[in-house]
Amino acid sequence: MSIDQGQTIPPGSTIGILGGGQLGRMAASSAAGLGYKVHIYCPDEDGPASQVAANTTVAAYDDLDALRGFAAAVDVISFEFENIPAQTAEFLAAMKPTRPAPNVLYLTQERLREKNFLSSINVPTTRFLEVGRVEALSQAIQALGRPCILKSASFGYDGKGQVRIDSETDLNDAWNRMGADLAILEAYVDFAKEISVVIARSVDGNTAQFVAVENQHRNHILDVTIAPARVNDTVAQRAEAIARHIAQELKLVGLLGVEMFVTQRGDVLVNELAPRPHNSGHWTMDACVTSQFEQFIRAICGLPLGSPERHSDAVMKNLLGDEVYQWREILSDPSAKLHLYGKAEARPGRKMGHVNRLSPRNN
Ligand code: AMP
Repeated sequence: MSIDQGQTIPPGSTIGILGGGQLGRMAASSAAGLGYKVHIYCPDEDGPASQVAANTTVAAYDDLDALRGFAAAVDVISFEFENIPAQTAEFLAAMKPTRPAPNVLYLTQERLREKNFLSSINVPTTRFLEVGRVEALSQAIQALGRPCILKSASFGYDGKGQVRIDSETDLNDAWNRMGADLAILEAYVDFAKEISVVIARSVDGNTAQFVAVENQHRNHILDVTIAPARVNDTVAQRAEAIARHIAQELKLVGLLGVEMFVTQRGDVLVNELAPRPHNSGHWTMDACVTSQFEQFIRAICGLPLGSPERHSDAVMKNLLGDEVYQWREILSDPSAKLHLYGKAEARPGRKMGHVNRLSPRNN
């Protein structure tokens, strides 16, 4: 039973955030800008978020005593990472307002649940089937055709647990590489572009969304975001309407990243939802009146939403692995704004920071 009654959490209060990564770090900085303190809860010491937060509880996500202590120390609870057990969110929501609500976390942390929900509210996705064992795979492939993509139903991000199935692929091998007991098989989308919309919804049901942006991936990891997306107005409006519809149907309080494919024909299909600040929203930090992180804090604290208006166009580049060592060059470029996450080790593919390059707004 949730105790959230939609109240305002005023500046001066303490915001609890589950997860200790860069999204928590940037959210904590924005929270500080509005006069809040942030208390992080995560299993690791000295994570990017803890370095800038007032307090951290280092404990496992199922440590009930530690969760109780955390709830007692904060005024509102959110998360920066959706692979938190849904029971943990339920447990916390019985003690303190938890936003977005635990059912949003539950729906979005498993791909089958998420796609079934999207279908139930008439949001277009790629065709998909549930596959519970390797023996069922070949029939599912026949139904969807090759190529197709086999994904673990839960706990996947940045392409982990995903295998593309082509004419040559050995099915036992694909199943083992996917590595889970429950999978979703998706028809392959020969997309023209990948785009996303980040939208906020407040406790009183108002929404505010940033313009649709274009995303380019490398090795399944976001590499570059171009804001705004180079799509026609019809596609942009379709994407924005879909994001609004999903946020309303979820009764979201907080922020939602909606990842979409634009097909060659201009159809918009939703690929994935993330009920938290999103990597494709980092450009807003320097190019919009209100950044996605400030908007996130406003939404979960019951404050009026800020203007998502963009004053500049932007290209955001993630600094992955040793790309972070370009910091000196980036700092010498007057159009570039550098953001580093305080991670000590530049492992390949690890998100170490990002740079926003700004240009005058074009339309
Ligand atoms: P995901 O983890 O679902 O966000 O997938 C990571 C990336 O894999 C996406 O951003 C796409 O580039 C690619 N991808 C995922 N699903 C599909 C699909 N059904 N068809 C084509 N490409 C896909």
